[in-house]
Amino acid sequence: MAIPLAVAFDCDGVLAKNGSSWQSIHQNFGTENKAMYAKFIAREIDEEEFSADDVSKWIAKKGRIHKDDIARCYSGVKLMDGARDVVKRLQDNGVLVAIVSSGVDIFVGMVASMLKVDDWIANGFDWDDEGWMIGPLRPRVLSFEKGLAVEKFRRINDLNSEEITSVGDSGSDLSMRIHGSSFIGFNPSNSWSREAFEDAGVPVVNSFDLREIWPILMDGEQF
Ligand SMILES: [Mg+2]
Repeated sequence: MAIPLAVAFDCDGVLAKNGSSWQSIHQNFGTENKAMYAKFIAREIDEEEFSADDVSKWIAKKGRIHKDDIARCYSGVKLMDGARDVVKRLQDNGVLVAIVSSGVDIFVGMVASMLKVDDWIANGFDWDDEGWMIGPLRPRVLSFEKGLAVEKFRRINDLNSEEITSVGDSGSDLSMRIHGSSFIGFNPSNSWSREAFEDAGVPVVNSFDLREIWPILMDGEQF
């Protein structure tokens, strides 16, 4: 793997120590979406149907939802160990750092500003003028087509795809690997992701410390 000029990170489970920023809302509101999640990863429903179902479950439970209610769902979420160090050292080496997430923008934006990344994109909701949720936004990032966002990032920054490495914890993050670019599987979030990484033949780091991707990213250099 050549030393990259840009690294695109997934957020949930990679830069942040959480399972899913959508799931955090369910946990906080006492709702769940397991059946719909199974349908989603089986590709029986799309992102738009999945997020519309989430929102209808939350509204059925809570009545109405304010932006602050969503922000509060993330109050206990921590950055992944080593995330700050890795992002900083990459940037010190002149490497561009982006977050490409199909997670919730309120959360991903917090992570992006904590880590001072160069660019980020995520999904989210439509709000009225007073900050009450109207519904989900049309997805900006499709979980199984994250390469569209990586490709846009490549084009804007005038990079070759060979100069980009993506890092993700989910089988769907393999879609970040645009043609010619590299991918590192980090701490696969479940067995189907682990299998997807194995099938794809990508390097996998099993750790809760992001610094462990460094030797793979940087041609054997220890962090
Ligand atoms: Mg993830």
